Amino acid sequence: MNKIPTNDAEIIQKISELKEEKGALVLAHYYENLDIQHAADFCGDSFELAKRARESRKQIIVFCGVSFMAESAKIMNPEKRVFIPRADAGCQMADMVTPEIVLEMKKQHPNAAVVCYINSSAATKAVSDICVTSSNALKIISTLKEKEIIFVPDKNLGSFAAKHFPDKTFHFMQGWCPVHNDLTGEDLRRAKAEYPNAVVAIHPEAKAKILAECDYIGSTSGILDYCRMSDKNEFIIATERAIVERLSEEMPSKKFHLMSPCLTCPDMKKTTLSDLLYCLENLNNEVFMTPDKICAAKQPLERMLEAAKD
Ligand code: SF4
Repeated sequence: MNKIPTNDAEIIQKISELKEEKGALVLAHYYENLDIQHAADFCGDSFELAKRARESRKQIIVFCGVSFMAESAKIMNPEKRVFIPRADAGCQMADMVTPEIVLEMKKQHPNAAVVCYINSSAATKAVSDICVTSSNALKIISTLKEKEIIFVPDKNLGSFAAKHFPDKTFHFMQGWCPVHNDLTGEDLRRAKAEYPNAVVAIHPEAKAKILAECDYIGSTSGILDYCRMSDKNEFIIATERAIVERLSEEMPSKKFHLMSPCLTCPDMKKTTLSDLLYCLENLNNEVFMTPDKICAAKQPLERMLEAAKD
């Protein structure tokens, strides 16, 4: 009878053996717990991981993240089998937008291009013109000829982008990431008072009035690169807490402080090593999508890839 692993070291060893045995590629989002990131073959933001899945020759992808990310990996890799260890890991912001909301906005603004943040369901992507990530939103929007933009679902990222395009009219819906949107001016003031020598790096999913008082605004990957390349030694980080843990581990000579304890995404913390092990053993929670659904959702993602090349 196979021995059941009982501690983290045994679970990690078993995960590593199963990856080999099943020919599986394990991907983890940067917001996952660090033990999951360590067990993964690659870590990244959602789009980097979907691309990693495409580049890999492995036919089994286990995606440690939330459901829209596993969906994106499946859309970009329809011929591969994609699994998510925790099927109940969702994204509150992605759930705020539905295809019906987008179609209603299109009716009101028929000349507008629908720009959809990648943090959305496949059904919402399917009724959108083009996707963006937080790192490429400005570049992608700059390639659009339309003078009107419907931006869904994140009103904060949309407003941040809109400031760079005074010649375009933006229409927003009321969607937000509860993790970043909950940051307050008081959180920022308290952190700056406590760490007066630190520079502040923030994700554009936070509100505009907070962004205006920070030193650097960028995506998760952007914040990681900014901290790596900066000659500063102390940082206040205003994005999910796993980024502070990752940076502290990677650069022990620099100091990283989380701006507020509210910066914890409960869905990103659901996946445990035991969930990953169970998924690899049993290949449960496979992402299934019909070819029609994949085809419709793939178009705005492919358009984004094309526009990002220019
Ligand atoms: S951090 Fe925000 S946008 Fe990201 S998965 Fe959590 S709720 Fe969704």
